[in-house]
Amino acid sequence: MRLLFAEDDVLLGRATCVALLKVGHAVDWVTSGHQLLAALEREIYDCLLLDLGLPGLSGEDCLRAIRSGQRRLPVIVLTARGQKDDRIAVLDLGADDYMVKPYDLEEMAARVRAVVRRNRESQSPELAHGPLVLRPLTRVVLWRGQPVTLTGKEFMLLEALMRATDRSVTREHLEAALYGWGEEIGSNAVEVHVHHLRRKLSRRLIVTIRGVGYRLGAPDQLDGGTPVHDEAGARDAG
Ligand code: CA
Repeated sequence: MRLLFAEDDVLLGRATCVALLKVGHAVDWVTSGHQLLAALEREIYDCLLLDLGLPGLSGEDCLRAIRSGQRRLPVIVLTARGQKDDRIAVLDLGADDYMVKPYDLEEMAARVRAVVRRNRESQSPELAHGPLVLRPLTRVVLWRGQPVTLTGKEFMLLEALMRATDRSVTREHLEAALYGWGEEIGSNAVEVHVHHLRRKLSRRLIVTIRGVGYRLGAPDQLDGGTPVHDEAGARDAG
């Protein structure tokens, strides 16, 4: 998952980022409300972790701005104020959940999973493309009904391609979906994941659009035969 994390306390911010990266999330960390809103203009996130006490534009202001917008974004508020009235105020502003500081990092990871799951449950429980099925909630991938084991990045890449339906996805978009700011990205990182996905699933599954990026192969081209070993088919597909 790609998370946006807003926290102006450097020590707390760093520790939280490390913990979230360790459980496999891509994390972008911002330290002010203005940076936060700018990041939301540029990128699409699965969840926002929002410190209320941000300098300049406060967490409350940011939450109001986000909730007045179109996109549905799960938000977990992080606050030092744990009184009942404060908690109610935060939920009334449209937060999905809140955590009182000092928070436990393992619990935070679990709450992120929970709010993202609830958000996705309200959307599509299953993405399908020909013989390929991907279940975002349970992180299950089926190929012709058989479960396939993917790494976290492979799963994220496949999900991004499936959510894009018929549109092509640029390499830059995929890099952004897979990696947080400042995370080391090899120049051919996306190509490597695409290569592994083709090997694990089908050579025809992901079509390279030269100079642009990738798209999924036509679903009817994926059924039947044994495309994994079909070199001619792979060349046809690009
Ligand atoms: Ca703060």
